[in-house]
Amino acid sequence: MFSGTYNAFTMTPIGIVHSPFHEKFGIPRQPGLVPQVKGHIELLPPCNHADCVRGLEAFSHIWVLFLFHNTAGDGWRPTVRPPRLGGRKKVGVFASRSNFRPNPIGQSVVRLDDIDLSGGKVILNISGHDLLDQTPVLDIKPYLGYADCIADSRDGYAQAAPASLEVIFSADALAQCRELERTGSGDVVQLLRALLVQDPRPAFHKRRYPDKTYGMTFGDFDIKFEVSGNTLCVTRVITETGDDKR
Ligand code: SAH
Repeated sequence: MFSGTYNAFTMTPIGIVHSPFHEKFGIPRQPGLVPQVKGHIELLPPCNHADCVRGLEAFSHIWVLFLFHNTAGDGWRPTVRPPRLGGRKKVGVFASRSNFRPNPIGQSVVRLDDIDLSGGKVILNISGHDLLDQTPVLDIKPYLGYADCIADSRDGYAQAAPASLEVIFSADALAQCRELERTGSGDVVQLLRALLVQDPRPAFHKRRYPDKTYGMTFGDFDIKFEVSGNTLCVTRVITETGDDKR
């Protein structure tokens, strides 16, 4: 389809992500870090056809190629400071998974839980993702263990999953979580622990503001937490209506 020089071309999203992450703060920095996170990809016309996903249900994981739409207009620099290096050391943009790139394309391997073809829609239920709500999806491909899993890879400055914090809950926050669990929100404590153990704070905050209160949202949860040293304390978990259901 493309001929001549590849100076510029346009692409149309084939789908859109529906995710409990409505803001960037608090999204895991890579997929697979919080397997409990659930979301879905809705295929858009003309790809919202069962034929487009025929056979895909036999794969446990998919590659999702997407547009970093939330930061696409913010430009890029040849070097970036990965959080992994404490936000101090610079590496080349192509030695990073930063969302500030010349072509703002992201890629994530996510679990494909199932495909729902009801109601004339094509919905791919996914989990363990690191995607903002409303992210435009450019392509989907099956993950192939024999080709994509490199057991003896050399992983530069990212040898293993990042160090994690100890997560505790105040008595109030714990009671609020238990109440949400009682009204059908699943295992809220376990989910928040898995999300927050990743330490959502920007790297420079760890140096400059070692003790600070933070707010983040997840789905309709409004969460407050404090970090002191290596311990993160969840101090409040209410639903966005401001109602803690107590
Ligand atoms: N796994 C992807 C993304 C790594 S960066 C890749 O390697 O390409 C992950 C971060 O991207 C998340 O923590 C979140 O802050 C950010 N992000 C996710 N969806 C985004 C979007 N649509 N626009 C901008 N940033 C996004």
